[in-house]
Amino acid sequence: MCGIIGVYGVPSASKVTFFGLYSLQHRGQESAGIAVFDGKQVRHYRGMGLVSEVFDEKILQELPGEIAIGHVRYSTAGSSTIINAQPFCVNYAKKTIALAHNGNLVNAESLRCELEEEGHIFQTTMDSEVIVHLIVKHLKEGLVEAISKAMEKIKGAYSVVMLVDGTLVAFRDPQGFRPLSLGMLNGGYIIASETCAFDLLSAEYLRDIAPGEILVIDENGPQSFFPFEKRERLAHCIFEFIYFARPDSTIFGKNVYLVRKRLGEKLYEECPLTADFVMPFPDSGNYAAIGYAAEGRLPFEFGVIRNHYIGRTFIQPSEKLRDLSVRMKLNPVKELIRGKEVIVIDDSLVRGTTSKNRIRSIKLAGARAVHFLITCPPLRFPCFFGIDFPSKQELIAAKHSIEEIRKFLDIDTLYYLSLEGMLSAVEDLSDKVCTACFTGDYPIPVHQPFRKDFAEVK
Ligand code: AMP
Repeated sequence: MCGIIGVYGVPSASKVTFFGLYSLQHRGQESAGIAVFDGKQVRHYRGMGLVSEVFDEKILQELPGEIAIGHVRYSTAGSSTIINAQPFCVNYAKKTIALAHNGNLVNAESLRCELEEEGHIFQTTMDSEVIVHLIVKHLKEGLVEAISKAMEKIKGAYSVVMLVDGTLVAFRDPQGFRPLSLGMLNGGYIIASETCAFDLLSAEYLRDIAPGEILVIDENGPQSFFPFEKRERLAHCIFEFIYFARPDSTIFGKNVYLVRKRLGEKLYEECPLTADFVMPFPDSGNYAAIGYAAEGRLPFEFGVIRNHYIGRTFIQPSEKLRDLSVRMKLNPVKELIRGKEVIVIDDSLVRGTTSKNRIRSIKLAGARAVHFLITCPPLRFPCFFGIDFPSKQELIAAKHSIEEIRKFLDIDTLYYLSLEGMLSAVEDLSDKVCTACFTGDYPIPVHQPFRKDFAEVK
């Protein structure tokens, strides 16, 4: 997964982009990059690591201009190299094109083969590069025409910002898998994956970039184009609400915190338990745990405390210290937990390994009984549209029954929110979301085997 930003007509655009990326850091921690146009040329800078590690005052000063794009990339098992960091920049016919992409194409491999047969040479293993080649191929026909032709070919999830010299462009796939919003700052424009970036910059949220829209911002102001006549089935990623997006963001027209709180309320409606208290695994379970406790009029406690200052660690804990990595991030409050029956809420169960260790640590802290409730149904199918889920083999619920998982986790109760319950929490969006990771019902047919080393998850 990734986070993207576009800035138009704002002084020190690279600094504004830097702060915007800062607030999107949760969408990607592997690499960060900014490309900026100063009226004459596009300059760019990319590096591995967090936004604050990659950029400093001096680097940002060397990126002058009022039009910029930025990108943060999620760490995946695939090739994590600077070559695959974005924005991706190419020179073509005296223009510089810089592109930042969030999402995942499902037909990138076949398109890449076609393009290679036509003589296109690729520099990276990213599917985003396929988008650039397709646009460049038709650029003579005009920018909007070229993007429309590329959009006709590419299938999958893409929220994109692009800089073509002095023009900022944003476009989004017709299903609207990933969020993308437009805001205004001091008469200029900001485009961001999530609205939390607008809040940090004191920008005003205007609207979402619509599914299937191409938005061009140049000296004539913003202009919208809709190349697709047929309206596709909308497929906003519901996992953005469950786990990925920041709770202070409004995505797909709904505030993430409030959706998570409703997920907790629905959990209580479906599985009303009593215990000494309700606690989340922070931070992902916090808001649903608040909803569950409020709905059931149950005490709420932070039974485990999160350390927010964990960077990357290259030290593998020895067998003796095998709980170290768990305790480094979450440490139980023993005095609170000892002898207590607890209801633990978390957003999702993916492989089951982290949860097993976390549950073990609260049992070691003396919990008498543990009821573990999850705010979504069992994850049984891989995501082809940008969420970094492991393969089907590694998804615990793809291979094991709920009772088997309960035994594996060594807990008293395991309950997953039903599909209906989850959908009711997103209210009127319930028929406009992608739930393929739970149901296997992919909104776009996925023909080819998914190769992560090629289709980097962004
Ligand atoms: P596990 O018990 O190993 O399945 O880990 C569950 C935890 O991983 C939950 O707290 C989730 O918030 C978190 N999680 C959610 N989505 C992902 C993901 N795509 N990759 C890794 N961890 C995730």
